[in-house]
Amino acid sequence: MLIIGSHVSYKKNNQLLGSLEEALKYGANTFMFYTGAPQNTIRYAIDSTLTNEAIKKMNEEGIKLENIIVHAPYIINLANDAPSKYDFSIRFLKEEIKRCEEIGIKYIVLHPGSHVGLGIENGIKNIINALNIVLESSKNVTILLETMAGKGSEIGSNFAEIKEIIDGIKNKELIGVCLDTCHLNDSGYDISKFDGVLEEFDKIIGLSYVKCVHVNDSKNVLGSRKDRHENIGYGTIGFDNLLHVLYHEKLDNIPKILETPYIDDKAPYKEEIEMIRNKKFNPNLK
Ligand code: FE
Ligand code: FE
Ligand code: ZN
Repeated sequence: MLIIGSHVSYKKNNQLLGSLEEALKYGANTFMFYTGAPQNTIRYAIDSTLTNEAIKKMNEEGIKLENIIVHAPYIINLANDAPSKYDFSIRFLKEEIKRCEEIGIKYIVLHPGSHVGLGIENGIKNIINALNIVLESSKNVTILLETMAGKGSEIGSNFAEIKEIIDGIKNKELIGVCLDTCHLNDSGYDISKFDGVLEEFDKIIGLSYVKCVHVNDSKNVLGSRKDRHENIGYGTIGFDNLLHVLYHEKLDNIPKILETPYIDDKAPYKEEIEMIRNKKFNPNLK
């Protein structure tokens, strides 16, 4: 079954219910949100009345809570063990996981981190150490390491680095991977040969670790290490190659999330989901 949705907003006054209503407007059967602005730490208490109302509505609409994804904020960098920053990142990720638990969310996507000059091996060591601390207090929220574009000193732009992190995690039940097609392209994995990419992933990490896919086109060429998302079919990856990912039998039933850019200040997700369901490119989006 195709489980498709997009990034949606999450607001203080209507919370999960508001996110759900936005997703339904797009014709989605899943969605992803940040529990607050991704670039800051202001977070509000979760209103259980709103959560319950949202869950009731999700049941009516046939949307499963286990398919809803939270994205951790960018300000968390587990690769940097500078004292003030490291403790902050660990504490904030723990709190994010608590918020997920309160809502009943199962998966939180995390950028592994940037080593900021410490070197890849030190960065990976810091990430592993921090994740083990964070996961000690997680009961059933799984952290999904996102495959990165390799911009700056980002860790996780190849499968070997992700594998190294996973190898160091004590509780492997609570660790997984989120593939991002734009990031894969930008880090040098050719989406036009996606079967081969999945095979390589399976050999190095194991396909059972994939719990979410971010489906984005890319503004830049293969291996550019840039990370600029493009609307579905409007970038260098192309519509047919992205459809192949979206309907891949080995990724069936795994939530696919669009993080494509707004067009003229308007969310493109209704139209993009439509063309994905119709399997027909719409050249009139922009
Ligand atoms: Fe991300
Ligand atoms: Fe992503
Ligand atoms: Zn990105």
